[in-house]
Amino acid sequence: MENLKVIVIGAGLGGLTAAACLIRAGHDVDVYEQAPVLAEVGAGIQISANPMHVLADLGLKDEIMAVGVRPGAYVFRLHDTGEELQRFNLAADHERMHGQPYNQIHRADLHEIIANKVLALKPSAIHLNARATHFVESDKGVELFFADGSSAKGDVLVGSEGLKSVVRKQMFGDQPATYTGDGAWRITVPIERVAEPHLEHVMSVFMGPGGHCVCYYLRSGSLLNFVGCIETDEVSEESWTMRFPKERLRRDLEGWHPAIQAIVDAADEDGCFRWSLHNRPPVRDWSTKRVTILGDAAHPTLPYLAQGAAMAIEDGAVLTRALQMEGSIPAALQRYQRNRIDRTARVVETSTFNRRLFHLPSVAEMRAAFANRKEGEDRNAWLYSYNPLTVKLE
Ligand SMILES: Cc1cc2nc3c(=O)[nH]c(=O)nc-3n(C[C@H](O)[C@H](O)[C@H](O)COP(=O)(O)OP(=O)(O)OC[C@H]3O[C@@H](n4cnc5c(N)ncnc54)[C@H](O)[C@@H]3O)c2cc1C
Repeated sequence: MENLKVIVIGAGLGGLTAAACLIRAGHDVDVYEQAPVLAEVGAGIQISANPMHVLADLGLKDEIMAVGVRPGAYVFRLHDTGEELQRFNLAADHERMHGQPYNQIHRADLHEIIANKVLALKPSAIHLNARATHFVESDKGVELFFADGSSAKGDVLVGSEGLKSVVRKQMFGDQPATYTGDGAWRITVPIERVAEPHLEHVMSVFMGPGGHCVCYYLRSGSLLNFVGCIETDEVSEESWTMRFPKERLRRDLEGWHPAIQAIVDAADEDGCFRWSLHNRPPVRDWSTKRVTILGDAAHPTLPYLAQGAAMAIEDGAVLTRALQMEGSIPAALQRYQRNRIDRTARVVETSTFNRRLFHLPSVAEMRAAFANRKEGEDRNAWLYSYNPLTVKLE
């Protein structure tokens, strides 16, 4: 099918990528975003080969390579001594195996690159200040309503409005969200402010009882991105913009490796944010006849595998292919979800499992767990090797 009028809710990484893929495939797409400006938070994101296939196909590889950092490896360490428990190569090996590089990018940079692509394909595609509230679907089409009382009509509606999706809620009711027990701290610091010891240019995971920290470089190595998932009983919002006192972060990381302490020391006093991580079980049905969901709206994913946005980007490419393959919208939406549910559920479940693995209570258990695992082989076999543009769609 071509020339469908597609309504996309949410101009996050998932919605914008889907919009770009759909416009390029010949559809007329409008994206409705609740925020008054197009923006992403000041944090890093890892983009492995699986979503990179889609971004490269949209012609964005050079721009991403110009602002991304290619880490040499993925390295798992003990939280205090820094003892290395396992490492697998990324860099040239990742690209040779999977056909695209592994990049670490500032979210705002990636978001801007994809948004500019959408605007280049259709300058009027993105509508801001448009908070979707509900939809009405009939045999003839779908109408989306906004908080200001206006509405938009289309043939297909794609809800890519993240964790608090109104489309998901309308289709399936409130989904139970269970607090994981972790608050995710995020900070970014310019490297010139960080005292020694510096981390090597790899994707570093420091793991210990009650928490783990992920550190990697952004913007040609000039900026360090830090995410610390630390167990706490204090539940706050699921939000990237909740500030917490730096002193609390410092206390949370007492006794951790000196390289971690050096990063925390370099953080701005008011530049420490904490997000309460919640778990939502995967759902097995995402679509009605004309309405579907993608990204965090469909399969909220904990960050312990760094694949939530990757899944959202894959979704958009597979949805576009399914619409090209089928002669009817309901059949296309069924083909899309049929081909995405198992993979995204596996990512959700592996991310949830990693939380237990990364927080094992003793050094002996941590060493034993990693002695029995081949993390790189496993991820290369099923996760990074998936190409959403060529995978067979059943
Ligand atoms: C600490 C942390 C680290 C992470 N690291 C990684 C990583 O390294 N790699 C990776 O792949 N993933 C990572 N993720 C996951 C990733 O951030 C998310 O999976 C991804 O951003 C989801 O994209 P999305 O487009 O589905 O949703 P979102 O990014 O949430 O975008 C939704 C958009 O919809 C808009 N919206 C919401 N409601 C409405 C409404 N009613 N009407 C109109 N607009 C609306 C929002 O304003 C927003 O712009 C991480 C997550 C966390 C918490």
